[in-house]
Amino acid sequence: MGKINLLDDLTIDKIAAGEVVERPASVVKELVENSIDAGALSIDITVSGGGLESIRVVDDGCGMAPDDVSISLQRHATSKIREAADLSTVPTMGFRGEALPSIAAVSRLRLCTRRECDLAGTLIEVHGGRFVRQVEHGCVQGTEIRVDNLFYNTPARLKFIKSEGAETARITDTVQRLALAWPSVAFSLEVNGKKKLITAGDNRLSDVLHQVYGSANGRLFLPLEWQGPLLKVRGYISRPSLARATRNMQSFYVNGRYIRSPLLSDALQTAYQTLLPRNRFPAAVLFVDIDTHEVDVNVHPSKKEVRFSRERDVYRQVLSAVRQALHASSLVPELGCGRAAGSNSFYPKQNIFNPGNANTIPVGQQDDRWGHNIEPAELSLRETAAGCSVAEQSDIVSFPSLQPLGQYRGSYILAQSEDLDLYLVDQHAAHERILYELFSQDVENGTLPVQTILPLTVELDPPTAAALRDKLKIFEELGLNFEVFGNNTFILRTVPLFFRNLPSQAEIMGLVALAGQEKEHLSLFEETLKLLACKSAIKANDSMTREEMSALLVNLKSAQSPYTCPHGRPTTLLFRAIAVDTHFRRR
Ligand code: ADP
Ligand code: MG
Repeated sequence: MGKINLLDDLTIDKIAAGEVVERPASVVKELVENSIDAGALSIDITVSGGGLESIRVVDDGCGMAPDDVSISLQRHATSKIREAADLSTVPTMGFRGEALPSIAAVSRLRLCTRRECDLAGTLIEVHGGRFVRQVEHGCVQGTEIRVDNLFYNTPARLKFIKSEGAETARITDTVQRLALAWPSVAFSLEVNGKKKLITAGDNRLSDVLHQVYGSANGRLFLPLEWQGPLLKVRGYISRPSLARATRNMQSFYVNGRYIRSPLLSDALQTAYQTLLPRNRFPAAVLFVDIDTHEVDVNVHPSKKEVRFSRERDVYRQVLSAVRQALHASSLVPELGCGRAAGSNSFYPKQNIFNPGNANTIPVGQQDDRWGHNIEPAELSLRETAAGCSVAEQSDIVSFPSLQPLGQYRGSYILAQSEDLDLYLVDQHAAHERILYELFSQDVENGTLPVQTILPLTVELDPPTAAALRDKLKIFEELGLNFEVFGNNTFILRTVPLFFRNLPSQAEIMGLVALAGQEKEHLSLFEETLKLLACKSAIKANDSMTREEMSALLVNLKSAQSPYTCPHGRPTTLLFRAIAVDTHFRRR
């Protein structure tokens, strides 16, 4: 007898389940997507024990005919496509007919369903892929699916499941992203008896954002709507002050389907460029609508990725969409105010002087708290804790014209706008921004003026020396002329004219090392320009005349991106006149 066996159906289902049903969160995703495909307007999800004990999804969708119920639990049974040609245009979330049988193969599944036109509903139970019973059953219109003891018959898979807490977090994350994708559907998620998320289903994405990320963060989003030749982008992106150390707060949907996309994530990041410090990622909920023929949704087992046929165009157009949304709004972080969205009243309960709250801003210490070391994400925490509302300003707004009032601690310009609002401008950060844009322009035009310096010798290890030899032209364009002097030795002869202090040997080495690492020229350019701007800008503790302050503020206003320095720190903070009066109890 030969060695090859044909596997029985039960074993085949268990193997397939390994692909579709990775973990409890994938069960939740598949069941909720089925509910959405069934036209549900309300979906209630209840889980316990990290989803391993029980997952229940109840919807008010179209339900199933009694004859279809047992078929739905067979492999490759789907009502959503008929032939391979339909794959390119499939409008529904599901299409492979794998989810239900895969889930049923590795759990105790109970499904109860009724269509509007049927008098009675149908109940079916399947345990570990084995049919247990199907009976007529009274139920409301829609479908209720209960999945108990997930992976009870696949101990190897159970081992890969993390703690209950980690699985619960994944489930919550999954439901949040689905709720963001479907603001017209009312979602409710209950975990171990506690409500975790409720959305109204009133088709307002901004409301769902507030539910998912909390009202304070929810107010830090900017709307985006953009139509390009290839695609349409809509949704929300965060102000730079709401950024995280991971990309967790980014959700991309292509034709309504949540996907992971390094391409879209890169386009988003590039649009923020110097608005964020390194390794900080903006939040975003972006919907990309594109002709279904331009995208392949059938490239990943759990459909988490898609492939665009014209990747470069998609990248460029999403980049433009995000840039435009960022340019359309004032990005000055606003302090000390608590303006409720859409109203002029302040939150009465949020008091920035309350010393009991660790997240509040003691006003006397403002300088330390948004000094050089502060990270924007921390800043946003404080902003939001103070009840700041910046996202809902009705702005198509440009940077304000500012009159200097004086210099605070030799480092910050106190200034007033035409509306009599109070602004604090970090003189170094502001000047860095102005110079960075000026230098970028000069470099682009090939007109960056240079000065000859006393020759500075740089000795490098062979690979770095080889990299520098390759990049000599780029450094020359940036005003840094290196002359080759022997094998691994170079002499730096010029630096840009604007340098107030010469760069140190270590800084030069840092740039040269970057030349060794970078395949792309772009970031070498960026980093060098940042260093040039930093070296040339006015420093903290440099005193300034009123004329110098005025000139700086005028130049900052005409900068393309006046809100942050090239490293992503804010240049300017706003204290509205109304907020000042309120805090002095004059209102
Ligand atoms: P797919 O979604 O890829 O079609 P599934 O295994 O997830 O495959 O579901 C099989 C079929 O069962 C679906 O095509 C649909 O007809 C039916 N079905 C599943 N869940 C529901 C539901 N909640 N409401 C109505 N019909 C459902
Ligand atoms: Mg499905």
